[in-house]
Amino acid sequence: MNSRAIAEPLIRRGRELCDGPRRLIHYTPDTRANTLVTDLDNHPHAFLIACIMDRQIKAERAWAIPHELSLRLGGFDFPRLEALSARKLRAAMIKPTPLHRYNDEMARNLFLAIALISDRYRGNAAQIWDSQPSSAELVFRFLEFRGVGPKIATMAANLLVRDFKVPLADYYSIDISPDVHTRRVFERLGLLAAGASTEALIYRARGLHPEYPGIMDLAAWEVGRQWCRPSHPQCPQCYLRAICPSSRRQVKPEAP
Ligand code: SF4
Repeated sequence: MNSRAIAEPLIRRGRELCDGPRRLIHYTPDTRANTLVTDLDNHPHAFLIACIMDRQIKAERAWAIPHELSLRLGGFDFPRLEALSARKLRAAMIKPTPLHRYNDEMARNLFLAIALISDRYRGNAAQIWDSQPSSAELVFRFLEFRGVGPKIATMAANLLVRDFKVPLADYYSIDISPDVHTRRVFERLGLLAAGASTEALIYRARGLHPEYPGIMDLAAWEVGRQWCRPSHPQCPQCYLRAICPSSRRQVKPEAP
């Protein structure tokens, strides 16, 4: 079976997720924190700031930071943030308890992000993705924020398209976000050699679905999280079993 045929169920599942109705995504178990980061109409900067914080700590913790800051600052409206000095923002990140593992770095990123939203987007972060930019332009705009690399920029673009149904002019430049689950599923499906580089994973996805490489992102992650566990994969329950070469042989557990 060729690679494209093997990837087809993942592409189909990805399409289903993109085409489905907008639903409330739970980025964090705290309802109020979740409401803030999904409020693109009134607090689009909260989504962006959560993406910036989503490094080197658990995602649930990162996505709760805008709400925690809101409690410490007395609100999260943009003019309030814009009026804060770098020193006050740093203090809010640290006291009474540190919000992030790298508070100094994140406080700096946050201060510079607010300045960029203010200068470039007239205080409205939604201007980053409104007006149907091309996918390359959207990813580039995220990359302009300090601390945002290709992984976070791609993640943010995938979330906007898939979860928030934000329309773009095209989807060519939204890559798959490399992740342990995604990688494992690609490897067991025979789409990627074991131990291949992150770049190889990204280019593999580009080759399989150039129109929107990131369409397989959540689909592969779901399979990895639900059935294709590091040891004892649940192949009989996995919808990829009929086309997966690994389902027909004993899958070796991953090295710890
Ligand atoms: S069939 Fe088994 S090995 Fe293949 S992707 Fe599914 S869980 Fe993983």
